[in-house]
Amino acid sequence: MQPNSSAQSLGDRIPALVPDLRGKLIPAQPLADLAWFRVGGPAEVLFSPADENDLSYFLANLPADVPLYTIGLGSNLLVRDGGLPGVVIRLGKPFAAIEPLDGARLRVGAAAADKRVALTAEEAGIGGFAFYFGIPGSIGGALRMNAGAHGTETCQRVVEVYGVDRSGAKRTFSNAEMGYAYRHSSAPADVIFTGALMEGFAADKAEIRAEMAAVAEHRETKQPIKSRTGGSTFKNPPGHSAWKLIDAAGCRGLQIGGAQVSEMHCNFLINVGGATGADIETLGEEVRRRVKENSGVELEWEIKRIGVAA
Ligand SMILES: Cc1cc2nc3c(=O)[nH]c(=O)nc-3n(C[C@H](O)[C@H](O)[C@H](O)COP(=O)(O)OP(=O)(O)OC[C@H]3O[C@@H](n4cnc5c(N)ncnc54)[C@H](O)[C@@H]3O)c2cc1C
Repeated sequence: MQPNSSAQSLGDRIPALVPDLRGKLIPAQPLADLAWFRVGGPAEVLFSPADENDLSYFLANLPADVPLYTIGLGSNLLVRDGGLPGVVIRLGKPFAAIEPLDGARLRVGAAAADKRVALTAEEAGIGGFAFYFGIPGSIGGALRMNAGAHGTETCQRVVEVYGVDRSGAKRTFSNAEMGYAYRHSSAPADVIFTGALMEGFAADKAEIRAEMAAVAEHRETKQPIKSRTGGSTFKNPPGHSAWKLIDAAGCRGLQIGGAQVSEMHCNFLINVGGATGADIETLGEEVRRRVKENSGVELEWEIKRIGVAA
């Protein structure tokens, strides 16, 4: 009798669907190793494509009912303890190139770390990228989240964005088509960004270096950057600072299990040791409840919570 194919694990099924795949498939990859909070369960299968054609081939042959999620450097993610069913895509080195171009432009791969983009722009005398020096994510995450700091947002630098959709088709989005708003892009959720053309302005290298030093100073003195955290937990509600609302609700230092509201910056949750994904999410929901009770304001999660409960 033929074995029932639905009883096969996804990790066993996929190779036969994509015999010419060149990238790397890893079954049961622990996501806690790949996310800043260091919590959460595994990805059923992790895929790191060899290049854009490989990604396109993979997606064109992946059955439509297999759940798919893309991660970058995991600095804005809370992975739940049961992990992620389906495939998680993570772009690696083949997508990490940064190329300075004429006209104060940069062609940037989605896996390039924001900090490296800031440094490359500085070396090329291109201003407008120093804010990336303090953001610990990748350009893919920045394009999706409209990452920003110190008065500049990703949307101010984007000329166009390249990606591959769920059907495997290569797509290009203009800045307007990215539908940018505060920490949000309304580009189709199924698109995996592979890179972008970005533009700054000609600037003096010494001035850029001074700007980057100021960014680093701010981070080191105001944010728990050496902790296991996901950055700002909640978006700033219109007309408010999330941290002030959290502080006023008495949540600074509040702890559930191994998760704590940072004493240093109370819009940051931290894993003080041994936290589970559930500890962090429960703490976040408790903060939302107390803030609502105290100020009437409903905080909205900025951190992406992904996966299933244990
Ligand atoms: C200490 C600390 C400080 C931070 N400071 C800031 C700050 O000042 N400003 C700020 O905006 N953020 C900040 N963050 C949050 C975070 O760094 C940013 O949101 C960053 O852009 C996320 O990038 P990432 O590669 O880590 O993405 P991930 O956290 O891995 O993913 C975030 C989102 O992007 C999507 N995504 C990632 N890659 C791709 C891709 N290639 N294609 C499509 N979608 C993709 C994911 O699906 C997910 O929805 C901070 C985080 C930490 C831990």
